[in-house]
Amino acid sequence: MPLFCDVALAVPLEMVFTYAIPPGMEPAVGGRVLVPFRQQRLSGIVVELHDRPPQVLTSQRTASQVKIKKVIEALDLSPVLDEQLLKLGKWIANYYLAPIGEVFRTMLPLSAEFKRSVEYRITDAGRMALHLAGMSGSPARSKRTPEQQLVEFRVLDYLAERESVQEERLRGATRVVKPLLNGMVRKKWIAREDVSAARDVARMVKVAVLLAAETGVAGINESDDGAPGVPARLVPATSLRAGSRDARPSTDKTKKLNENQRTLIEVLAASGGRVPVEALRGLDVPRTTLGTLVRRGLIELADEPQDFTASKLKPRQSPFEFEFSAAQNEALGKIGEAVASRKFAGLLLHGITGSGKTAVYLACMRQVLDAGRSSILLVPEIGLTPAVAADLHQVFGDEVAILHSGLSDAERAEQWHRIRRGEARVVAGTRSAVFAPMSDLALVIVDEEQDSSYKQEETPRYHARDVAVMRAKMAGAVVVLGSATPSLESYYNAKKNKYALVELPDRVEKRPLPEVEIIDMRQEFQETGQEQVISRKLAEEIRARLEKKEQVMVLLNRRGYSPVVLCRACGKTLQCKNCAVSMTHHKRERKMECHYCGHVEHIPDKCAHCGSEYVYFVGTGSEKLEELLHGMFPQARIGRLDRDTVRGREDFEHALNALNEGALDMLVGTQMIAKGHDIHGVTLVGVVGADMALGLPDFRAAERTFQLLTQVGGRAGRGQSPGKVVLQTYFQEHYAVQFAARHDFAGFYEKELQFRAWMHYPPYSAIANVLIRSEKLDDALTWSGELGRWFEKRRHEGIRVLGPAAAPITRLKRDYRYHFILKSPSREKMNTLLRAMLAEAAARKIPRTQVTVDVDAVWLM
Ligand code: ADP
Ligand code: ZN
Ligand code: ZN
Repeated sequence: MPLFCDVALAVPLEMVFTYAIPPGMEPAVGGRVLVPFRQQRLSGIVVELHDRPPQVLTSQRTASQVKIKKVIEALDLSPVLDEQLLKLGKWIANYYLAPIGEVFRTMLPLSAEFKRSVEYRITDAGRMALHLAGMSGSPARSKRTPEQQLVEFRVLDYLAERESVQEERLRGATRVVKPLLNGMVRKKWIAREDVSAARDVARMVKVAVLLAAETGVAGINESDDGAPGVPARLVPATSLRAGSRDARPSTDKTKKLNENQRTLIEVLAASGGRVPVEALRGLDVPRTTLGTLVRRGLIELADEPQDFTASKLKPRQSPFEFEFSAAQNEALGKIGEAVASRKFAGLLLHGITGSGKTAVYLACMRQVLDAGRSSILLVPEIGLTPAVAADLHQVFGDEVAILHSGLSDAERAEQWHRIRRGEARVVAGTRSAVFAPMSDLALVIVDEEQDSSYKQEETPRYHARDVAVMRAKMAGAVVVLGSATPSLESYYNAKKNKYALVELPDRVEKRPLPEVEIIDMRQEFQETGQEQVISRKLAEEIRARLEKKEQVMVLLNRRGYSPVVLCRACGKTLQCKNCAVSMTHHKRERKMECHYCGHVEHIPDKCAHCGSEYVYFVGTGSEKLEELLHGMFPQARIGRLDRDTVRGREDFEHALNALNEGALDMLVGTQMIAKGHDIHGVTLVGVVGADMALGLPDFRAAERTFQLLTQVGGRAGRGQSPGKVVLQTYFQEHYAVQFAARHDFAGFYEKELQFRAWMHYPPYSAIANVLIRSEKLDDALTWSGELGRWFEKRRHEGIRVLGPAAAPITRLKRDYRYHFILKSPSREKMNTLLRAMLAEAAARKIPRTQVTVDVDAVWLM
């Protein structure tokens, strides 16, 4: 065994650390080890095994004097990151200038297997202090207040009677706060030890077991497709049911089962009577149903070891009830061909809204699975609804692993192991699913590739779409980027033949795209003499739909009741105390809330600046819009979908199901209503506020607005009746608005590219945003000034450095913010300059945590 290993630790330092390997221990490259680091124990990834003794960095001492620390424990016998994922991690660290250890931490969702724990014990000095205090009644001179001293002695007292005590327990028992503990450690009264260790997780899964004797009572019929008990279609699109509640639990087992209960029983029966509970979650049945059946004694829950081989939820052979269109077949053929060639290829699937992209994805993935290979489907944060999960389970049975933000750490680790063992060869998930540990990866699909939720806004600041492309390259796999509104970057790549362009130019069954009518709200103001939220035309169209029993969606991309509170006397607005932004009034919850940091305040009855009582609530958010619509259409059943009404995935689905079933006439909401949903009854989409972004100093504002307008318009007319969009705007002539109204993606793209070329923005230049922030204004100013002068001195061929300038949001979460924007035709040169800048910042003792480097920044505010 080699003598040393280099370990990547999740600390904000751009380096790896060398440790000695004790005799007999056999860590693996790509495996985790537990090591001492400063006063703690950390787990890290072994990146290299070698025999080179570490060098001392300070020149004075001799190399032989270093005392090298030892690995405490090897946590894995075999790598948790295979060669490809290790390579991918290194690529990310290099491309996004992120510490490699932090990259690996993001790639591995295994934190549940490592238990952090710190213990304290009293020292001799501590016993002495306690003793002296007991003698004299008061301790020696101290900087602490009498209250603090009391707490200190409570801690000493508590520890004196015990061997060593875990931090949480000590804090609970003595109510000591962390700074006081730190001080006591510094005084050497107490000693701290990190005893973190691997947690022995016996991986068990919950399994639902059908109690056979009872099924006859339940009266299952043979279904007509030959397979006994298999429901013909588990998730008919039209039967999505909101709020259906199970019958009350009853001891009478012969009592008739409701439809949800029957579905569950039938699925269990069809799958051999034992199915992991997790797999049942994918069915379109409320979570409570299983519990009800358990209480009724029809189903039993059991724990089984993770890799039990009991029967699985069977996939249906043909998930699609329709014939694929010619365009869909062609897309399927092209993707299939690329996959079969076993070489890297990138395809951009540009399909208009309602063109049936999802069916193409699922069919491709099915083919890959049938060939015994693996695939990953990435979806935006908001795209992973239970309905999508149900579709996936239906097509792939429990060969699919679904990774979403609602999973606990332990569940996430469990899924990870399932994938790694090869039990789940289809993975669907949000951003980080791009790191799923599959072998023989054949296909990666990125749905709605332009979605900004693919960009991680914390270290490492990677973009999952771009990582997907790189991962496919390394695996010799095919990557498919799908969208109705591709990003400029991807479309440009397709035009340059870096990706093959595949188009679905028509809606399925030749349904027409909706007609779009633009309402100029400035003119509306002139004609009515009043600021209107809902134009006369939109009101008239809504009324007409309601009379015809058709459904309406209204988009206002701003939550809350009123976005601004203004004092008419002094003209000041109520700003967040942590951020330079207005606080938003939330009427129902009776509060003011900052949408950037979450800070909450009381609703003011007078101005905080001048004391005047003339405070006005200005502007309209989705909450107020809902109220206005209620007033205008008292008979209509109106639902609202935004971050205030949606707490979890279930609320989200609940509202959409209600609309789908006709339990709602109208759905109001933020961009949450715009994406992906396929609700056939909606024939009118009203856009009340979606052009706000056009007023922001962000070069992607036009692109975002075009995408949002196209997406929300795409919700109209997906059923038998054609749709219409009424688009209210204050930017009537803006090309983003005009092209969206004409469904002219190519036109928008040409125009926007011109602007990007003139301004040296992506896709013509690589960009990076360098943010300097501090709670102290002075520090932020000094540091950004210093780095500004440094950039100045190193004027580079072709690299433009803008700044330092105050960031558009000059204060956020208490930090003052200054930034630089770098633009460069050569990404390599830009990264070299950024790396030199980080070294300069380190030399000037600017804390690394206060300098954020965001390569390919999406959010420039
Ligand atoms: P997109 O994602 O492109 O907007 P979807 O994949 O959501 O479109 O498909 C829209 C609807 O059309 C879905 O209800 C889907 O089941 C249905 N669909 C897909 N392909 C076909 C087809 N060939 N014929 C009929 N309906 C189809
Ligand atoms: Zn005032
Ligand atoms: Zn704030």
